[in-house]
Amino acid sequence: MQQERLLKVLVIGDLGVGKTSVIKRYVHQVFSQHYQATIGVDFALKVLKWDHKTVIRLQLWDIAGQERYGNMTRVYYREAVGALVVFDMTRLSTFQAVLRWKGDLDSKVALGNGRPVPAVLLANKCDQRGQGLCSKLPKLENFSKDHGFVGWYETSAKDNTNIDGAMTRLVECIMAVEEELAVAAGNGKENNTSWDFGCFGSLVLPHAYKL
Ligand code: GDP
Ligand code: MG
Repeated sequence: MQQERLLKVLVIGDLGVGKTSVIKRYVHQVFSQHYQATIGVDFALKVLKWDHKTVIRLQLWDIAGQERYGNMTRVYYREAVGALVVFDMTRLSTFQAVLRWKGDLDSKVALGNGRPVPAVLLANKCDQRGQGLCSKLPKLENFSKDHGFVGWYETSAKDNTNIDGAMTRLVECIMAVEEELAVAAGNGKENNTSWDFGCFGSLVLPHAYKL
């Protein structure tokens, strides 16, 4: 029998880093140079055929104009099961804000047994790689591991670079966690095994196929 899973995923990061653009590229396959700060919270839905019996409805929450740090309420974070934390490769201040966003996320939402929700780091606007900052960035591989991200990608919403890959990675991690929690619940045991997301290796899970 087919089962449907609704997954709430947050897209967070400073103003102008490309959150709305990443969502639009992923969901609607469009990009606009024209900057338009959205007001309120915006949702976008992407339907993924995960495997022969599972359809995922990925609900992407765009914080849309409320990027001031500390401004986001718990209501926004509630029941999220994953997040993209986005910064702009050409603006150092947006990278410096990444840990504040990750900290805000982890302080306001956690999975059933207190684990942080899987988060993927996006270094967006990689099409503008030549411009300034990149040489000043620490090695993102180490940075993302050290700070508990389940992966990192250089992305471009403009050129459609790595957006699908980043989303697939996040969904794989979310599904792996959900499966583990379900097994633990099903067994009626407390799940106290130490595990990791298989973050930087490959997970033996099917990739998401777009409908
Ligand atoms: P948000 O405030 O984080 O939602 O950022 P937006 O998605 O509104 O993007 C801010 C600006 O950056 C807009 O002018 C976009 O066209 C531009 N932008 C977003 N993503 C990219 C990208 O990958 N490459 C380039 N060159 N510009 C981008
Ligand atoms: Mg926006």
